[in-house]
Amino acid sequence: MLLITCPVTRTDELVADQRIRAITNHPTHLALHVACPACGGVHVYRTGRRWEQTRARATDRAATASALAAAATTARAAQVDVPA
Ligand SMILES: [Zn+2]
Repeated sequence: MLLITCPVTRTDELVADQRIRAITNHPTHLALHVACPACGGVHVYRTGRRWEQTRARATDRAATASALAAAATTARAAQVDVPA
């Protein structure tokens, strides 16, 4: 089971393993393609220590650069699907 947040409806959904459509192995992370029970679409969720570190560094740079708005956009971009 996975707990995902649908980027379309913004709801948390408990998802069965059978809804995982693909798992792609990347050097920095795994990309899980999950069929969403809330909106019917397929969302990509990325997980992995190196992926988290990269995202954290990017968020830190954006925050120190100047705008808190930029940091919020980066965090949001990390949650929305990015092509695998
Ligand atoms: Zn969805």
